[in-house]
Amino acid sequence: MSETLDQVASAARTDAPPAILLDKVNKWFGTMHVLRDVSLSIAVGERVVICGPSGSGKSTTIRCINRLETHQEGRILVDGIELTDDVRALDAIRREVGMVFQSFNLFPHLTVLENCTLAPIWVRRMPKAEAEALAMHYLERVRIPEQAKKYPGQLSGGQQQRVAIARALCMKPKIMLFDEPTSALDPEMIKEVLDTMVTLAQDGMTMICVTHEMGFARTVADRVVFMDRGEIVEQGTPTEVFEDPKTDRLKLFLSQIL
Ligand code: ADP
Ligand code: MG
Repeated sequence: MSETLDQVASAARTDAPPAILLDKVNKWFGTMHVLRDVSLSIAVGERVVICGPSGSGKSTTIRCINRLETHQEGRILVDGIELTDDVRALDAIRREVGMVFQSFNLFPHLTVLENCTLAPIWVRRMPKAEAEALAMHYLERVRIPEQAKKYPGQLSGGQQQRVAIARALCMKPKIMLFDEPTSALDPEMIKEVLDTMVTLAQDGMTMICVTHEMGFARTVADRVVFMDRGEIVEQGTPTEVFEDPKTDRLKLFLSQIL
């Protein structure tokens, strides 16, 4: 009986529409072809790490997913909604997708708490008290509730990045995109941010993270995707990609970051 239920459950999982689907996506900046037939299907709850040399199209790929950039060919679907010029579709997707950048992008003239409540109040029309309670909940989750009344400039880089994560979570996204969230941080602050992201991953959040933090990739990634020159060159489990690279391009990349 339990086997049957397991089979049903696993069939349901495979039949569920992917959280994110990229189908032969191509993008040019001017005449420069920066994404070449990028296809990627990410399941609900899946954690994907994207790595690759500088300029290989990692940021552009994830920026296309919440339409900070537009692609010219191919299709992108987020939670079953196709990314088009339809403003309502775009609004729906932006509500479901949180993004954290390398540079924390906090509003310097707002307190930590105000940074976290701004979008819930103005975009989600949440009452202020409710938005503040939600913000405190997530500031506790990233373990900096005591910083709520401070301004970003009064915090360390690691603390600012954790505020940026809390701020994104306050919109209750289904999917989180991270673009090299630790690469602007001093080494001693990298761990505190990665620990926060590990916790999120353990909660079952669908995540795409551009990072070269191999330890993080090994701990949380279901899949590692290696990009080079606008293409997905290899992908697999962290063990497959890091221990058994197939292409010279990936071997070269690993030899440079290890
Ligand atoms: P990565 O994140 O892997 O370092 P990017 O996605 O940022 O790579 O960039 C891919 C290519 O697109 C690079 O050659 C980069 O110079 C170029 N590029 C990125 N953003 C822009 C832009 N806004 N205008 C023109 N070229 C861009
Ligand atoms: Mg980048």
